[in-house]
Amino acid sequence: MLDYTHQDWKTRAEALTLRGQAFIDGKFVDAVSGNTFDSINPATGAVLTAVAECDTADVDLAVAAGRRAFDDGRWSRMAPGDRKAVLLKLADLIRANLEEMALLDSLDMGKLVTDAATVDAPGSAHFFQWYAEAIDKIYDEVAPTGPGDLALVARVPLGVVGAVTPWNFPLDMATWKAAAALAAGNSVVLKPAEQSPLSALRLAELAVEAGLPDGVLNVVPGFGATAGRALGLHMDVDSLAFTGSTGIGKMFMQYSGQSNLKQIWPETGGKSPNLVFADCEDLDTAADMAAVGIFFNQGEVCSANSRLYVERSIKDAFVAKLIARAQAMQPGDPLDPAAKMGAIVDEKQTQGIMRFIEAGKTSANLVAGGERITVGGKGCFVQPTIFDDVSHDNPLARDEIFGPVLSVIPFDSEEEAVTMANDSIYGLAASVWTDNLSRACRVADRLHVGTVSVNTVDALSAQTPFGGMKQSGFGRDLSLHSLEKYTALKTTWIKYKA
Ligand code: NAD
Ligand code: MN
Repeated sequence: MLDYTHQDWKTRAEALTLRGQAFIDGKFVDAVSGNTFDSINPATGAVLTAVAECDTADVDLAVAAGRRAFDDGRWSRMAPGDRKAVLLKLADLIRANLEEMALLDSLDMGKLVTDAATVDAPGSAHFFQWYAEAIDKIYDEVAPTGPGDLALVARVPLGVVGAVTPWNFPLDMATWKAAAALAAGNSVVLKPAEQSPLSALRLAELAVEAGLPDGVLNVVPGFGATAGRALGLHMDVDSLAFTGSTGIGKMFMQYSGQSNLKQIWPETGGKSPNLVFADCEDLDTAADMAAVGIFFNQGEVCSANSRLYVERSIKDAFVAKLIARAQAMQPGDPLDPAAKMGAIVDEKQTQGIMRFIEAGKTSANLVAGGERITVGGKGCFVQPTIFDDVSHDNPLARDEIFGPVLSVIPFDSEEEAVTMANDSIYGLAASVWTDNLSRACRVADRLHVGTVSVNTVDALSAQTPFGGMKQSGFGRDLSLHSLEKYTALKTTWIKYKA
């Protein structure tokens, strides 16, 4: 697959069968209303397929299917080793269908198919495998009571878990939620983003093929204000894992208060700082990674390193390196292995990014990119863009743009760098570049974020929790810690004759 040409990918894309129906109780079904919406390829503007437009009635059916499955124990009370076997099989099926999964995300939201084939789709298989392997290795507690009392403290599944996910990593965001929630024994109702529902639907089909019982994983494509809201307000959803914007994360907290006090786990926006100190010896690697940190996935990454703080003595030399890298990362057809960046997810997001860029042209110093372009005369593409000498209070330095736009801000002291980095409503991630160990530890200690990457960007693994502080939300995906979102502590106290 990694030696496929542009034409190879195009041929395979044309041969794909796209399924846009909802997946409820183990079957593909139309929305109750019969309504559909179009799934669009942002690289061409072409309609990929019609997708079921789910609403309250469909969410009700999906939650009821999940509840029936949970209550009769077909998954929730299956032996841990058997659940493990099903999810391991699912990981294998994702690997066996890697090319298709990669194409679905690339066509639906514009990411490079080579990234989808090397990062997103293998990542999904890996995370299912990782949680599958964990299932029969987690032990519960016996509390230290006296003789005559046996107090068991167990983590038990909650019931029906809702998941509402964004479009930037469609398959992986669905996986981060579903793999952990299913491993813990729950039923899941997933509402993928309306821009990119296709891979989640195929994932649910593969899960049933792997042996997941009907009704345990349901996918209800549709819009946020209807299907997403219905899931948030549902009286029979026990926990809701959300990844998306901070504004919608706040709405989910309200939905909970207005309905059944379901647990809400928001993982929301970011404006992550990247701090480059003059005592970083390998500035070429730092520049390579700073470019990856903002331009990977067209900058549509919640933890994108969108604020670059550079020590003033090296700032001009460092920015020159970055400009060269940006110029070498021009967007192209996402199906072309030679392209360095793909398409922006849709017209609305593209226009939003361009509004920030146009405002930046009069308030900061544009040094690379800055234009919307087409590829083959079509599509939503934005050049990798760098603004230098951005003032700390410029919206370029404060607001999440969620596109390939980097703001460079010079600093004179460690104190000033840390203060500016922390002066944000967000706290998802940060990077620090220095070869001074004490400085690395000192700065990492003081950064108020969920993940600090030292001498790298966006460090992430199945083994480590991912999530934010402040208005980046408080949910954690990945690692065994994410199982806490999908389980409750349950005490069973037994009296016996000592
Ligand atoms: P979004 O908040 O617009 O949408 C996310 C999901 O919420 C979608 O499924 C959408 O349909 C749904 N939704 C929208 N309005 C809703 C409503 N009124 N009620 C219920 N559901 C609703 O975000 P987006 O544009 O899809 O994604 C980009 C955002 O996601 C960025 O802010 C990014 O930082 C964030 N993100 C965060 C993480 C993380 O782990 N912290 C990861 C990826 C993306
Ligand atoms: Mn789309």
